[in-house]
Amino acid sequence: MNQALLIVQCASIGALLVEIGYIFKNWKSRIHGYLFFYCLATLINNLGYLAVMLARTRADALLALQISYFGRVWIPYSFLLFGLRLCEKKVSPRVLGVLALFHFATYIVMATAKHHKLYYASIDFVYSGLHPHLVCTFGIWRNVFMALMIVYTVYFLVVLVRRLLVARNPFTKKRLLFVLVATLVQVLFFVLELCKVMDDYDLTMLGYTLAIFFMYIAIFRYDLLDFQELAKDFVMDHLSEAVVAVNVDKKVSFFNDRAGELFPRLREDPDLAVEDIRLAANGSETVRINDSIFSLEKNNLYRGKKLAGTAYVFKDETERLAYIKELEAQKQLADAANVAKSSFLARMSHEIRTPITAMLGFDELILRENSDRAIVNYARAIQTAGKSLLEMINDILDFSKIEAGKVKIIPAAYDVSGLVTDLVNMVLPRADTKRIALHVQVDPNTPETLYGDEVRVKQCALNLLTNAVKYTLDGSVTLTVTFDRIDVDNIYLIIIVSDTGIGIKSDDLERLFSPFERIDEERNRGIEGTGLGLNIVHNLLAAMGTRLDVRSEYGKGSTFSFRVQQQIVSQKKIGDYEAVRQTAPKGIAQYKESFHAPDAKILIVDDTPVNLTVMRGLLKKTLVQIDTATDGVDGLEKTRIERYDVIFIDHMMPNMDGMEMLAALKKDAGNKNGGTPCIALTANAISGAREMYLAAGFDDYLAKPVTGASLEQMVRAHLPAEKVRG
Ligand code: ADP
Repeated sequence: MNQALLIVQCASIGALLVEIGYIFKNWKSRIHGYLFFYCLATLINNLGYLAVMLARTRADALLALQISYFGRVWIPYSFLLFGLRLCEKKVSPRVLGVLALFHFATYIVMATAKHHKLYYASIDFVYSGLHPHLVCTFGIWRNVFMALMIVYTVYFLVVLVRRLLVARNPFTKKRLLFVLVATLVQVLFFVLELCKVMDDYDLTMLGYTLAIFFMYIAIFRYDLLDFQELAKDFVMDHLSEAVVAVNVDKKVSFFNDRAGELFPRLREDPDLAVEDIRLAANGSETVRINDSIFSLEKNNLYRGKKLAGTAYVFKDETERLAYIKELEAQKQLADAANVAKSSFLARMSHEIRTPITAMLGFDELILRENSDRAIVNYARAIQTAGKSLLEMINDILDFSKIEAGKVKIIPAAYDVSGLVTDLVNMVLPRADTKRIALHVQVDPNTPETLYGDEVRVKQCALNLLTNAVKYTLDGSVTLTVTFDRIDVDNIYLIIIVSDTGIGIKSDDLERLFSPFERIDEERNRGIEGTGLGLNIVHNLLAAMGTRLDVRSEYGKGSTFSFRVQQQIVSQKKIGDYEAVRQTAPKGIAQYKESFHAPDAKILIVDDTPVNLTVMRGLLKKTLVQIDTATDGVDGLEKTRIERYDVIFIDHMMPNMDGMEMLAALKKDAGNKNGGTPCIALTANAISGAREMYLAAGFDDYLAKPVTGASLEQMVRAHLPAEKVRG
């Protein structure tokens, strides 16, 4: 029997050595430290007890027992630490410190047991039984120590069982089960020892040995030193985020290293730290801790459907926020520079338009008043060059307005036949010059009056038509206007411009809408352009919720088309467009004044003196008497002195603008011109402008640059019939 017990004791020592070696090799985290501590304490205990079993004198036995106790006093403590960690239970470090002191004191009391009766009340050495052995009766300290061990065991069993009940992973469950069995085995042998079943052998030794066997299974078979969990621990501790989990009882159940750094109280007094965390988590979404800014995420944790606690994740956002701030500052700088550029472009092109308009006006006067063939040819050349310069400037102005987001789509009612006629009138002279045929096909069922932004639709179509003529060397350009019905009140107006021109390579199609980019530069060198036209069309169509479709065959021709939703104002159909076109007024190719009105008197108010001179010149042959004023104040003064038949008022003027002057005139009691027709002059021909000026009290409006024909037409329309001759 004694031999058998000796063999068991030696086997347990061997098993412990293997276990210690394995743990040492796989040591990665704190739990392994605790397990190592437990096995080492058990090893010392078992070695000491082997010596006790082999001791043949009282002194040897006592010394061996002292060695054994050197390990034994720490077995329950280390097992408790290991178990708490395994079950993710946190106990205050202060409590653990006090317990450690007690265990240490227990060892001192036991080691000095010869000199007092605190641990052993009596110690005898007998030579009977399995082997000579000590027979002791116990003192008060030993009883307290035993009681404490019972408390440990019960507490640990409760924690372990609770953890086992909530474990979801079957692997984890088995592992915990073996730890539970190991604990129960120790308890069983502890109880047997308390009952003094064997006098000459300490049965707890067998308990430890068997417990080691079950721990073996937990470690090797069920991966107690679980790599997955190790990895989890490792990752958690190396996260830059601080993670703290608080259970429903408001106790910290987990925190990683980063959280420990941020909230040092987590290590010293976790319960108080909860308050720190809850305070930090209160209110705002970002938290400032030690000069750093953290974003905070609060997530509820559930076990099944039951709320188990809250996980607080503090993410260090300091660098990201600083980076965003820097980016925002840079973006503001870039935006400001872009706005400055756009407004400079807009201002410059507006400024340049004014003198060009004047030049074109004077040029028209030369064309009208001169019959010398050479001079007329020069003036025609100036007109052509001036018009294309004006187009380019208009493009730049439009582009900068689009860039600055200032383009607004302003719908108003308009006639489709008028739109087509305007387009044809504007493109025909160019097409004629290049000897290119311009075909116009209008679906006769197209509703005549629509509601939409006529100016923008016209601008897009005109751009396409101008390009078609520009990039066609011979052949024809066809404008097709048709529609798709959406419902009773809405249609898609479809504009198709096709040409038999040079075409576009398929590789170049995607670059078509890039601003300032001209494609096939080599071949198009002789054709003037800014490379902005299609970009403007693209953007304007986008603003109207549609897009440009392009089909092109290099060397054969292109077709550009778009469809834009418009409301139907009247269900009347356009009918035969050719017939409508014949009756429409034609552009004046050969100037001849359309009327004479020597008794009529008109006033023109404009702050640009050249505009006044040009308008004077354009109306010269009608013999109308003209007064001029250079701002609203001056104009108002003149209306008090003289009675006029028509008054033209520029919109933008210093001192008093057109709108203010009109309002003052209408309010001016006894003013001679209270009922005189007033016509607004404006540089920006936008859709709805007419309605805007009419609403402001004007009788009509005239877009700049003013042409001779439109000016004459306007004056004639508003003069009293008795003053008009011819
Ligand atoms: P540009 O001022 O150069 O005409 P656009 O933006 O209007 O600028 O057009 C961009 C480019 O697309 C032109 O340079 C030209 O190469 C090509 N393009 C436009 N319309 C046509 C067309 N109808 N036929 C052939 N090429 C065209």
